[in-house]
Amino acid sequence: QKFVYDFTEGNKDLKDLLGGKGANLAEMTNLGLPVPPGFTITTEACKVYLASGSEPPALRDEVSTHLEALEEKMGKKLGQADDPLLVSVRSGAKFSMPGMMDTVLNIGLSDASVAGLAAQSGDERFAWDSYRRLIQMFGKTVLGVDGDLFEEALEEAKRARNASTDVDLDAGDLKSLVEEFKGIVSEQTGRDFPQDPREQMDLAIRAVFDSWNGERAKLYRRQERIPHDLGTAVNVCSMVFGNLGPDSGTGVAFTRDPASGQQGVYGDYLANAQGEDVVAGIRNTVPLAELETIDKKSYDQLMQIMETLENHYRDLCDIEFTIERGKLWMLQTRVGKRTAAAAFRIATQLVDQGLIDETEALRRVNGAQLAQLMFPRFDESRIGDGAAERIGRGIAASPGAAVGAAVFDSATAVARARAGEKVILVRRETNPDDLDGMIAAEGILTSRGGKTSHAAVVARGMGKTCVCGAEELQVDLKQRRLTAPGGLVVAEGDVISIDGSTGSVYRGEVPVVPSPVVEYFEGRTRPDEQADELVRAVHRIMTLADGNRRLRVRANADNAEDAARARRFGAQGIGLCRTEHMFLGERRELVERLVLAETEEECEAALAALLPLQKGDFVELFEAMDGLPVTVRLLDPPLHEFLPDLTELSVRVALAEARGETDEDDQRLLQAVRRLHEQNPMLGLRGVRLGLVIPGLFTMQVRAVAEAAADRAAAGGDPRAEIMIPLVGTVQELECVREEAEKVIAEIQQARGVDLKLLIGTMIELPRAAVTAGQIAECADFFSFGTNDLTQTVWGFSRDDVEASFFTAYLEKGVFGVSPFETIDKDGVGALVRGAVEAGRAARPDLKLGVCGEHGGDPESVHFFHGIGLDYVSCSPFRIPVARLEAGRAAA
Ligand code: ADP
Ligand code: MG
Ligand code: MG
Repeated sequence: QKFVYDFTEGNKDLKDLLGGKGANLAEMTNLGLPVPPGFTITTEACKVYLASGSEPPALRDEVSTHLEALEEKMGKKLGQADDPLLVSVRSGAKFSMPGMMDTVLNIGLSDASVAGLAAQSGDERFAWDSYRRLIQMFGKTVLGVDGDLFEEALEEAKRARNASTDVDLDAGDLKSLVEEFKGIVSEQTGRDFPQDPREQMDLAIRAVFDSWNGERAKLYRRQERIPHDLGTAVNVCSMVFGNLGPDSGTGVAFTRDPASGQQGVYGDYLANAQGEDVVAGIRNTVPLAELETIDKKSYDQLMQIMETLENHYRDLCDIEFTIERGKLWMLQTRVGKRTAAAAFRIATQLVDQGLIDETEALRRVNGAQLAQLMFPRFDESRIGDGAAERIGRGIAASPGAAVGAAVFDSATAVARARAGEKVILVRRETNPDDLDGMIAAEGILTSRGGKTSHAAVVARGMGKTCVCGAEELQVDLKQRRLTAPGGLVVAEGDVISIDGSTGSVYRGEVPVVPSPVVEYFEGRTRPDEQADELVRAVHRIMTLADGNRRLRVRANADNAEDAARARRFGAQGIGLCRTEHMFLGERRELVERLVLAETEEECEAALAALLPLQKGDFVELFEAMDGLPVTVRLLDPPLHEFLPDLTELSVRVALAEARGETDEDDQRLLQAVRRLHEQNPMLGLRGVRLGLVIPGLFTMQVRAVAEAAADRAAAGGDPRAEIMIPLVGTVQELECVREEAEKVIAEIQQARGVDLKLLIGTMIELPRAAVTAGQIAECADFFSFGTNDLTQTVWGFSRDDVEASFFTAYLEKGVFGVSPFETIDKDGVGALVRGAVEAGRAARPDLKLGVCGEHGGDPESVHFFHGIGLDYVSCSPFRIPVARLEAGRAAA
C-alpha cells in the first residue's frame, strides 16, 4: 500500500484518498499550472493512525523518499542552514471542514536557518517575520498553546512601536518577538520550540491526523452528515512567499460571481502578506481588479489560468494564489460554493457555453436550492435605508423571511399572538417548554446552538423560519432585551426581521416580496426574454427535469383552490385528499350528531345531511383536476377529534350542575366524549376501524365520491376518482370495505348509466400491511405508502411527541443524521416499503404504487422512491416543483 503521492501522481478524482485539496493540487500540477512542488499523505495513512494510535510503520520511509525528491527538485534541504527549503503542512479532507487543524506555514525555519533565509532573500525582515509566523501557528495548532498569548504579544510589539499593522514592524522588532514567542512556547508546554526541521514536519503531520477527531470537527461532521471514518489527508507543499515586499502578495478569486453566476473578476488581493492574512482580515484587501495595475503580468496570467480551470472543471472554481516577487503561484482550487440562484444560472450558462450537456446541468442543481428560491424574501433594496438595518448573523436553520415584535418567552409570545400581533420568539436556546411560543411565533431566533439544536429541529419540522446560534447577539432574558455588537439594543416589542435562508437578523421591518420563482410557477411571470435570468434558468431546468423523469408527481390537496394551485405547479393528480378536513368548521356539528346518534335513524339522518356536502366538495375537486387521478382517502382520524375537549366539557357540565342547571345535550356529549376517550388515539379507533364499526360512514363517503364523479361525467368532464382506505393492517379489513363500496358504486353506475372506472386501493402505513402486502394486493387496485404513519409505527414513536423532546439529543449523538420524518429511513421504513412493492407487484403486476407521506417532497427520499420503482410521489402543493426536479435528477 502506497501512503504518499507526489503532486505529479494524483488527480482530481482521487478525493477519497488525497482529500479535496490534495487531489486538486495534483490536478493543477498535471495541467501544467504553476503549483509549488509537494506531496500528499493519504487518508489511508490517517485511518491507520487513528485506528492504531501510531503512524503506519512504512510511512516514515515513504515520507523521507518524497522529501528527498522534493529537496532534489528544489536544490535545497528542508531547514538547511544557509538556504532552507521551507514547506507548509496543510490538512485536507474529502469535504472541506472548518473545525479541523489550520495550516502551518514556514516549517523548516529555526534559529539556524532564519539567517540563511535572510541571506538568500536579501531581506532580513522577511526572514524574521516568517519565523515568528511559524512559531505562532505551530505553537497554536500543533502544540495547543492559547493563540491569544501570541496575539497579545504581537499587539504589544505594535503598540511599543506605534505601528498600526504588522508590516510596520522591522527586522529587529520581529526578532525580539520571536524570542518572546519561543518563551511563550517553553512556558506553556514545558519544552522548547523544536529546532529540528524534520521533527517540526512530523509533529505537524501528526497534529493534522489528530485534528480529525477534534471536538469541533466531530460536531461539524455530525451536522453536515459527513461520515466519521473518512480520515484526512495531509499536504506538504514547498513554500512560496507573498510577504517578500510590495511586489509580492496573496489573494483569493472566483472564476465567476458565486452570488449571481456572472463571469468577471471576483476576488481580493493583499500585497506583502502570507496566505492566512487575507481571510484573517488583519489588513484591508483590495479588489482583485486592482491587481492589474499593481502587477499586470501576473494579473494576465491569473485570468488565463482561471479560464483554463473553468474549462477544465466545467464549473465555477475558487482559487488561492500567491505572487512571489512577480511570479504567480497557484495554491488551491476547488469547485466553489454558490448561492441557490447562482447554481441555476451557472448550470444554464455552462450549457450555453457548450461546457456541459443538459443532463449534467440537471445534476448541478438540486431540490433544496429550488426550495430556497421559493420562499418569500426580504426586499434587499430596503435594507439600511433607515427603516431597517442588519444587526447580526446566525445560522440559517429553517428558511423563510419573518417579521415581528421581539418577545423573550413563550407565554408572552402566545399572549401577544392571541391579541393578533406578529412576534418573533427570541431565546438563548429553546427547550420543550418553549413549544407553545414557537407555534405562536412567526419565527424563532436563538443566540446559541447549531443546525441540530432544539430550535432548529423543531422549527424545520413546523416549517417555521428560524435563525439560530447568532452568537454576536446577547440575549438578556431578565432585562427582556437583545444587545447587538456596538451596543444597539432591541427591547421587547421592538420589531425585528429574520432571514432563515441567510441567517441575517435585522432591526426594524424589512418588507417581504414574493419569490420570482413562485410567480413563475403560478403562471404570473412568463419565462420569456423579458423575464429575469433566474426565472428563465429555472424554467429551462424544470423542462429538462420533466422530460427526464419517470416518477409522476401528485399533490396532497383537499380543496379546489389547493388543487388548482397544485395543477399550476405541475401536479399530475391528487395523491391524497384528506376527507376529515371536509368535516371541520360548520360541519362539525353534523359529525357530532353522527357520533351521538343512539338509533339507526338518527345515524342515517346525520349521514344523509353530510352526503350532499361531501359530494359538493368532490365535484369541485374533480373539476379542478379534470382528466387527472384524484385519490380520496376515507375518514382517518379518531372521532373524538371532532368533539369538544374532555376537560373543558367536564368543567362546563360540573359548573352547570353546581348552578342547578342541567343541559341534557351537554351531558350526552360528555358521555360520548368519555366513551370515545382513548389513552393513545394514534393507535386507537381510527381509519378502517371506524369504517367497520360505524355503520354507513364509509358507504356515505363512497356514495359521495361516486355521485360526484357521475355528475362530472354527465357534465362532460373526465373524473378519475380513486378511493383509498386508511390504516389497513390485514386484507380482511379491506375486503369488508371493498364489498360494501362496490355495491354502492354498482348501484350508482346503474342508476346513472355510466361506467365510473373507480379504483379502490389502500394505504400501506402499518408494518403488518407492509409485511402482508402480497395478500393485500389481491384486494387492492393501488397502494399508497403513508410513510408518516409508517415511520411512527415502525419506530414506535409519535411525531408530535418526539420531535420536540429527544430528537435533538439523537441528532447530536448521531443516532440519526436527519429526522426520519424529514428523509425516509431507508434501512428500516424504506426496506418495508421496498418489500411491499415487490410483494404487491408479484401478486398483481398492474398494481399502481405511490407514496403520500411528507417524504414525497423530500429530495433524498424522492431518489429512493424512484429507485424502488414507485409510479408516483405525492406531496404538498409547494413541494411539487422540488419533487419534479428531484424525480428528473433521479432519472438523469
Ligand atoms: P485552508 O484550508 O484553511 O484554506 P490552506 O492549507 O489552504 O488552508 O492554507 C492556508 C493559507 O496558507 C492559504 O491562504 C494558502 O494559500 C496559504 N498557503 C498554504 N500553503 C502555502 C505555501 N506552500 N506557500 C504559500 N502559502 C501557502
Ligand atoms: Mg485554503
Ligand atoms: Mg396515516
